[in-house]
Amino acid sequence: MDYNVNSEGYYGEFGGAYIPEILFGNVRDLRERYLAIMSDGEFLREFEGLLRDYVGRPSPLYYASRLSARYGARIYLKREDLNHTGAHKINNTIGQILLARRMGKTRIIAETGAGQHGVATATVCALKGMQCIVYMGETDIARQKLNVQKMEMLGAEVRPVTCGNKTLKDATNEAIRDWCCNPSDTHYIIGSTVGPHPYPDMVARFQSVISAEIKNQLQRQEGRDYPDYLMACVGGGSNAAGTFYHYLDDLRVKLVASEAAGLGVDSGETAATIHLGKRGIIHGSRTFVMQDEDGQITEPYSVSAGLDYPGIGPMHAHLAVTGRAEVLAVTDGEALDAAMELTRLEGIIPAIESAHALGALAKKRFEAADIVVLTLSGRGDKDMETYIDHFGKTAANEN
Ligand SMILES: *Cc1c(COP(=O)(O)O)cnc(C)c1O
Repeated sequence: MDYNVNSEGYYGEFGGAYIPEILFGNVRDLRERYLAIMSDGEFLREFEGLLRDYVGRPSPLYYASRLSARYGARIYLKREDLNHTGAHKINNTIGQILLARRMGKTRIIAETGAGQHGVATATVCALKGMQCIVYMGETDIARQKLNVQKMEMLGAEVRPVTCGNKTLKDATNEAIRDWCCNPSDTHYIIGSTVGPHPYPDMVARFQSVISAEIKNQLQRQEGRDYPDYLMACVGGGSNAAGTFYHYLDDLRVKLVASEAAGLGVDSGETAATIHLGKRGIIHGSRTFVMQDEDGQITEPYSVSAGLDYPGIGPMHAHLAVTGRAEVLAVTDGEALDAAMELTRLEGIIPAIESAHALGALAKKRFEAADIVVLTLSGRGDKDMETYIDHFGKTAANEN
């Protein structure tokens, strides 16, 4: 069984490039050039240099001893939360800005929901002195003021999107519209393993530094270079793709992906795309999509802004249907409890997205000797309001 992308851009039956004709040239150029650019020695030196000196890689692989005692296994946390800008997204935006420059592009566009990808994109545009336009739904702009202010301080223009529900899906449509109007000078930095081929593969490769490091670190720290379990949360799928990448074909390693169940898989307020989605096309890719009987995409819900995407990257759709990965649905409440548990056991406040990966620990039965690597995709600073809303009274009463 092949778990990675084939030469046509498919993961099994998922993926491909379903795009308007006007973008055909752009996507073809990207498809024809990305592998050569990414394997070029000069590119690799610059990419790896920035990951080291700007992002702060390698990110630590931390043995969490109190968390391990709690779940009866040897649990390591891959600390993407310690990266510059606070999450794994910067690995991808650095890679794409270097690629865009080598493709002769002068203008960068991006879409953002909660603003995390927008900030990671504005950051690398400042770093490289590139023009940056970020599309963001008006609803999200109102909810995520601080990220809007960060993007503007970094020199990006945040363009409010006023159609539809004024959230991520609408911002993405607007970014695609912009790209259609400016195909020659503009590169569209997509923030996850979604979109038309070659985006899912390109983003997975940029994020694969995560599993390359896990291999080296486990070899040094455990004397063997593979774990028994790899665990990560999935929104579009990029931190999980990076975590799984170098282990896709190593069947000794069990892959566990957590998606956001919101108020519950059957509650109608959920983002559990793999559990509920039907085959469809979203943002240029064939995958699972949350949709109604008429094929209209339904609005997802999760407490975590980074996970409430109505699609899922094609790699993860394939890993799920082939049984290579186990996909667990973790509710808002389970994730919030897991965030508090990690905070009190290890002194690490995780991003609410990462807390969905942590919430899956309680759903597994481990052997004492099992080695578990769980990717902490981001830090919790941005989620303090959510945590205070939920725990404010409880936390105060405990002390
Ligand atoms: C955006 C984000 C995610 C979800 O995106 P993936 O592409 O699925 O990784 C997860 N965690 C954090 C901290 C994020 O910012």
